[in-house]
Amino acid sequence: MTVPQRQGLMFVLSSPSGAGKTTLSRRLLERQTNTSPEAAPMVMSVSITTRPKRPGEVEGRDYFFVSPEDYGIMVAQGALLEHAEVFGYGYGTPRAFVNEHLTRGVDVLFDIDWQGTRQLAAASRDDLVSVFILPPSLGELERRLRARAQDSDEVVARRMDKAAHEISHWQEYDYVLVNDDLDATLSRIEHILEVERLRRARQSWLRKFIENSLNA
Ligand code: ADP
Ligand code: 5GP
Repeated sequence: MTVPQRQGLMFVLSSPSGAGKTTLSRRLLERQTNTSPEAAPMVMSVSITTRPKRPGEVEGRDYFFVSPEDYGIMVAQGALLEHAEVFGYGYGTPRAFVNEHLTRGVDVLFDIDWQGTRQLAAASRDDLVSVFILPPSLGELERRLRARAQDSDEVVARRMDKAAHEISHWQEYDYVLVNDDLDATLSRIEHILEVERLRRARQSWLRKFIENSLNA
């Protein structure tokens, strides 16, 4: 039998800041790579941002940290698949990396906000699977933001102020999960990914397989 071929899908995780999407993305990616070490079936899209680096963040792993000038140039050149202003800083997804992997049948994981998700949906709805992560409560969201210990009190307060607005976009997503227990949420995300990969519309190899091998 020929090797099944399909176009990669764009898998988006969004949430109010602190609900756990970075933790979930890392765990998902680790597990995806562990199960198929010979060919990673999923890669993370690393965004560019004009925001300052947080303690512990690594250039090229967490973000590509760029100046507002370079950000403006990339926007003007159309080098970003989507871009948006979040908390007063510019964020965007480099287009070439995503397209190259999707074409090769590799899924791409995004940690982007609702504005970016909307832009991806407008550009390529059929290739998009979007998941919105909710915290169990606002109290727990604040606890997580403080526990992460990467932001000042002022930044935490600003992120809490924005949480309700971000949560208001939950209905624009294909799936909505409450991230109470981390392992349970991860497992649900893996199930969503598994069945979305199997959708008929993504199995471009099927027609040939049926015509050539099953039409005896
Ligand atoms: P986000 O990327 O959405 O801003 P993070 O992944 O940085 O959020 O998570 C914020 C903090 O909450 C981190 O310290 C992380 O370890 C913690 N966290 C994430 N998910 C859970 C969970 N299900 N239960 C408890 N703590 C969690
Ligand atoms: P943080 O500064 O906490 O890393 O991210 C702040 C917000 O920006 C999060 O909601 C995150 O999902 C979003 N974000 C990160 N990268 C991008 C991007 O490339 N595009 C868009 N639209 N949002 C992004």
